[in-house]
Amino acid sequence: MFNHVDYYPGDPILGLNDLYNKDTRAEKVNLGVGVYYDEDGNLPLLDSVLKAEAERAKAPQARPYLPMSGLASYNTAVQRLLFGADSAAVTEGRIATIQSIGGSGALRVGAEFVKQYFPQSKVYVSKPTWGNHISIFEAAGLEVGEYPYYDAQTGGVKFDALLEAFKGYNKHDVVLLHPCCHNPTGVDLTPAQWDVLLDVVKERELLAFMDIAYQGFGDDFETDVYAIRKAEALGLSYFVSSSFSKNLSFYGERLGALSVVSATAEEKRLVFSQLQYIVRRLYSNPPCHPATIASDVLNSDELFALWTEEVAQMRVRIKEMRQRLFEVLTAKVPGRDFSYITAQRGMFSFSGLSPEQVARLASEFGIYLVSNGRMCVAGLNTKNIDYVANAFVAVLQ
Ligand code: PMP
Repeated sequence: MFNHVDYYPGDPILGLNDLYNKDTRAEKVNLGVGVYYDEDGNLPLLDSVLKAEAERAKAPQARPYLPMSGLASYNTAVQRLLFGADSAAVTEGRIATIQSIGGSGALRVGAEFVKQYFPQSKVYVSKPTWGNHISIFEAAGLEVGEYPYYDAQTGGVKFDALLEAFKGYNKHDVVLLHPCCHNPTGVDLTPAQWDVLLDVVKERELLAFMDIAYQGFGDDFETDVYAIRKAEALGLSYFVSSSFSKNLSFYGERLGALSVVSATAEEKRLVFSQLQYIVRRLYSNPPCHPATIASDVLNSDELFALWTEEVAQMRVRIKEMRQRLFEVLTAKVPGRDFSYITAQRGMFSFSGLSPEQVARLASEFGIYLVSNGRMCVAGLNTKNIDYVANAFVAVLQ
């Protein structure tokens, strides 16, 4: 019956976890998957989350089905966080937001919507991008192409080439953008570059799909959504997929959101109805626990302030690790510019290491990076950073 089934060899990034887990060396370090670990190498359980859960535990509730769109108080809080409470799109009721199964689920629901209502559109993603972007849009039956982004020569963005590419796209083609903490490079556009790029998006009538999985890991919650708010101020109609996996440390809870900004409240009504229909056919409705807790954190002034502080601590710790790595490498490998390490933002650093050097790090040192050289800086801590830095020195020489 099943002998025609193709074998799926596994995801290259998630597969690194298996290799890491099988490694018996005590000094091994996992810098592969995009997960934030604290100074002790543990996945954090945030105090803001614990407090919300403790409060809920005092008056346990039944677990009803949520509506197809998810928990309403969660969805409105997400809109506030992304667009700002005072944005015209929020106050005029022009944003359709649904709770999603992580950021991945938001991408997939959005991709289904694009396939249904913009079947001719091609989707363009940055070169490089998070590999699953391509898979998710292709799985929905869309054709995916790449726009120029990372410049390996300068460690910056090929901005002119990027603009030229956008100017050549067809009306309603989809452009997938990372508002902050670009995955995998850590290289972001400046506000001035966003201004120019979004003008082109508007002029060419492209459909922006902004995917934000690291809000708070760049500068702060507000600064990190510059591009999202600029698009709103320009009056664009666009998508935003967002995730609480990283900033609420909610990885396994699978909580995200898809927001679609429309020109009018009537268009929003139509879009919202179809998003619900897509959900109904895919998984019916999302889980209630993660949205309840996130809603409690986002809707309480006290817990929101605590959460903001906790995300700031994660962000600062990552920046400290970048600084330390930069210092050791600069001292030990003279003549090479490592300033990209501190210039890049968010969890990731494109280390510039070749696949062979990455393979040596794994085999000789038990240090695991993605083969394209992407390193999750959040896997570093004061105990392993010198070991990692010295291993880098060894493979770079
Ligand atoms: N978008 C980007 C850019 C990501 O890096 C990730 C997670 N690695 C996601 C979306 C998906 O997030 P989630 O785990 O919430 O599905």
